[in-house]
Amino acid sequence: MSTSEHFDPAAATNAYLAKVPPDKKARSDAYFEGGYWLILWNFLLSAGVFLLLLATGLSARMRNLSEKITGLKPIQTFLYWTQFMVLTSLLTFPLGVYEGYFREHKYGLATQTFGPWLGDQMKGLGLAIVFGGLLMMALYGIVRRLPRTWWLWGAMASLVFLTFFSLIEPVFIAPLFNKYTRLEDPAIRDPILSLARANGISAKDVFVQDASRQSTRVSAFVTGFLNTERIVLNDNLLKRCSVAEIEAVMGHEMGHYIMHHDYNGLLFFGVLVVFGFAFLRKGSEWAFTRWGEKWGTHTAGDLAALPLFALLIFTFFFVLTPLVNTYSRTQEFEADIFGLNAARQPDAEAEVDLKLADYRKLDPGRIEEFLFYDHPSGRVRIYAAMRWKAEHLKEVGNREQGAGNRE
Ligand SMILES: [Zn+2]
Repeated sequence: MSTSEHFDPAAATNAYLAKVPPDKKARSDAYFEGGYWLILWNFLLSAGVFLLLLATGLSARMRNLSEKITGLKPIQTFLYWTQFMVLTSLLTFPLGVYEGYFREHKYGLATQTFGPWLGDQMKGLGLAIVFGGLLMMALYGIVRRLPRTWWLWGAMASLVFLTFFSLIEPVFIAPLFNKYTRLEDPAIRDPILSLARANGISAKDVFVQDASRQSTRVSAFVTGFLNTERIVLNDNLLKRCSVAEIEAVMGHEMGHYIMHHDYNGLLFFGVLVVFGFAFLRKGSEWAFTRWGEKWGTHTAGDLAALPLFALLIFTFFFVLTPLVNTYSRTQEFEADIFGLNAARQPDAEAEVDLKLADYRKLDPGRIEEFLFYDHPSGRVRIYAAMRWKAEHLKEVGNREQGAGNRE
């Protein structure tokens, strides 16, 4: 007799979903649905700021000021970029502080007081000025030298930059915001390293990120830079999850790593960036003939036209939100399946999925999930775990019996 006759994945999924009290579910639904509107408000506010800079001639004045300070074109670009970043950050600050600070506190997801939060924001702005400024200097150099084909070379340069940045980010940027320490507790470290070895990941250590200084969210990742494979989990995960749940999460993260999701993502993003630059070229030519006179800027190589390019690229990615989300969600689902097969902890996986419902609506409609979800919904993830469990009932059952002795 097959034991799976007694186990219905759909019923088990519903049983898990029913464990969340209605008030908690209403809260996380409200938080997540508010995020849909924030995508729109952020886009509209940014678009408004960019148009304001163009229409008031402020952008042209920022260019003039940069040209007055220095005759060196690359430095002019950097000076313009710095003014642009500071001004747009100030003008979008009210929405930023609502979204990033007050709203996060209202839903109990943030742990930082205002000072440290603002400090992190300033660090982010500084990094955006420095790294964005370097990219802008390269891009404007290309636009001025290659007036017809800049869009293609610009896309290539952006991709090289993006690849470089994603390689250095975990090593040089992430430590500016959080501390990383070695996980010493063998009861947690050893099962993670065993799972890593079983899947061909040669890490010797597990690192803990002090994410609780910013938020209550559970998270982890596995990265590799020049053969230095690095397994990181955050302290919220450590505090809030059992060893089995941690294994389930790390199985998922190792899936991302083994299936090269970072590199695939760069490839996917690369295609988008090429289309995005083609759109920048067409869109800017169209806008220059209509409004160039009024804005005091006529050519792509003119720094004063930067808000136009920002407006176009924001529009491009705003429209493509569902596509980008679907790409991400598909990879996340792959990592879930990998994690189930690697960690073999379907119930722990379901428990973690419930914990993620702190900030992600558990049970959305299909179209809603398609449009807005960059990870699968709790329902989809728990169902995948229960479906896996239904096919491995003997194994899971035996382990549950044996678990009592080990604890
Ligand atoms: Zn993931």
